[in-house]
Amino acid sequence: MKPEAGMDRSVSELRGVGARRAAVLGEAGIHTIRDLLYHLPRRYLDRSLILPIAQIPPGQEVTLIGQVRHKRFIPGARPRFVLVVEDGTEEIACVWFHGARYLQRHFEEGDTLALSGRVEHFQGRPQLTHPECEFVANAGEPELLHTGGIIPLYTTSADMKEKGLRSRGFRRLVRAALEECAAGLPDPLSAAARQRLELAELGGSLRQVHFPRTWEEMVQARRRLAFDECYALQTRLAHRRLARRQGKAPPLPPSRRLVPALLEGLPFALTGAQRRVAGEIAADLEQALPMCRLLQGDVGSGKTLVALLAMLQAVEAGFQAALMAPTEILAEQHAATLAALARPLGVEVQLLVGGMPAAQRCTALAAIASGAAPLVVGTHALIQGGVEFAGMGLAVVDEQHRFGVAQREELQRKGPGVHLLVMTATPIPRTLALALYGDLETSALDELPPGRQPVRTALRGPERRPQIREFAADQIRQGRQVYIVYPLVEESERLAVISASEGLAELKEGPLRGFSLGLLHGQLRPEEKNRVARAFKAGEIQALVCTTVVEVGVDVPNATVMIVEHAERFGLAQLHQLRGRVGRGAQQSYCILIAGSQTAGEAERLEVLCQTQDGFEIARRDLELRGPGEVLGLRQAGLSELTVADLAGDAALMLRAREEAFQCAGLS
Ligand code: ADP
Ligand code: MG
Repeated sequence: MKPEAGMDRSVSELRGVGARRAAVLGEAGIHTIRDLLYHLPRRYLDRSLILPIAQIPPGQEVTLIGQVRHKRFIPGARPRFVLVVEDGTEEIACVWFHGARYLQRHFEEGDTLALSGRVEHFQGRPQLTHPECEFVANAGEPELLHTGGIIPLYTTSADMKEKGLRSRGFRRLVRAALEECAAGLPDPLSAAARQRLELAELGGSLRQVHFPRTWEEMVQARRRLAFDECYALQTRLAHRRLARRQGKAPPLPPSRRLVPALLEGLPFALTGAQRRVAGEIAADLEQALPMCRLLQGDVGSGKTLVALLAMLQAVEAGFQAALMAPTEILAEQHAATLAALARPLGVEVQLLVGGMPAAQRCTALAAIASGAAPLVVGTHALIQGGVEFAGMGLAVVDEQHRFGVAQREELQRKGPGVHLLVMTATPIPRTLALALYGDLETSALDELPPGRQPVRTALRGPERRPQIREFAADQIRQGRQVYIVYPLVEESERLAVISASEGLAELKEGPLRGFSLGLLHGQLRPEEKNRVARAFKAGEIQALVCTTVVEVGVDVPNATVMIVEHAERFGLAQLHQLRGRVGRGAQQSYCILIAGSQTAGEAERLEVLCQTQDGFEIARRDLELRGPGEVLGLRQAGLSELTVADLAGDAALMLRAREEAFQCAGLS
């Protein structure tokens, strides 16, 4: 095929596209014929029902074919153009209020027309108002574009509309592009592969996705195009995994000393899931290939301990291990947790965060560079320039969804060959996991430590606030602690701080008077943040008023009440994370969602949390209700390229694409 006959030619080579239209299309991201053909219909109108006029039921969307008997322009305050069309069974009046003057020159008596619309009865006679209309050249087999079939509707920008590219104009362009390209289009999938995967051929699918003759055709065409997207994505993941197999990392022998000593000293036994996952990780670390494992585990499933076991394996083998967390509070907390467990074994923990005083930072950097610090915990500060490790063997990324792929790889590059463990408490449905992390091995902590009681969750209106606060006060009197969370308003941390501060003032004066209250938000200086977080952990602060900075990781087992203000502004997965801050100890815990004027849909969404504690189920519902783009900022993850495939609905297809792509790349 000549290159100029291909899909990559400019749209300006199409009939009907001049410089101005080309520019408008370009604005909408449509430069080539390929872009045009992959600008898929937003939805379709079914005009496939062609009926004789006499048989058209009122109110039904139909197409009829008939001849113009007479036409009339009716001037007046609301000028109208009326066309009377007849098909041998009956007459019907077609009325236009817009463009009446222009239309009167457009039609002649005797023209054969295909008209689509919803038939109404006006003064007892059938009438179509503003029907879609098309000339039928010859009776025989008319190829109709705008009527008489399933008609595509496109999303078109205001500019496009101005340049005659509403759905109608757009349909003409697409038809022209299909005529030029679709027939000779090479299909990257062989006939054998198509048969095996039960997929339609590419050229035909492109034609049918725009102009399907039946709904079934449309579904099949979409399925084919969705597969292509999934396949491209999975091929990239397969190549990433292959590339990693070329890499090298130090084999870390199983720990004989530190890990057994740690387990010995724990006041509890590992859960079955922790034992299994720790085994999977330990086996990976023994390999000379860099581990790349995703550890998924619901909030409170005990990921930190599993990470520590792996880190100790690295330390015992003579390497450093680093743990990166998304916030300073979390990094500080992890450092404290790990130190409490590792110091008795003679293993030091070094903290590195952005907000450290210069002198302290200097000492920290020196300890990291000399290897005097075997365990390093920090924030993004770890991947900045100037941080040199003596010999890193294992990098752990906590709450991995808060970081991009680039950042996790940057941490890994802090050593010549580094094993990587990424952890997330955001349970994602399998399809999404495959799309996002398909290049990683995965482990799941699917069991909570014993004795955890489900968090009692309730959805309440704001009018119940006094009782809710009284309840919180009561819990505090019993020795428990409470979180009260305010949402970001219009993505603005500043406004959230205002509402949290106001909330604090109100609580101090009223229902929580006499208790020790603290305020925690992202705008505090790092030292202040840490001071508050520590004071809450130590029980010196009884009620913590905060923004979503506590969303991830914070571990205060004595806290039993989580009150979320304006819960309707949060995503389900985010609320689940917040709820995960309580129910960490032996006491019954409560999560109270205060939601203002919710719509029925919102109430239904929030009810999901009251019904289940299962993070996977919640994530699945969240995905269904809000779409992947909204679920926890997955926007960053490069899913925007999936325009046809639907992550919620095309799970099976994604799996097939994965098998195919991985097999093709020589991976199992
Ligand atoms: P997450 O998976 O959410 O990061 P953490 O690692 O913070 O969970 O653990 C939550 C709490 O559970 C911590 O207080 C931790 O000490 C405790 N924990 C971890 N493993 C066990 C276990 N096997 N038995 C009892 N408690 C455990
Ligand atoms: Mg955690």
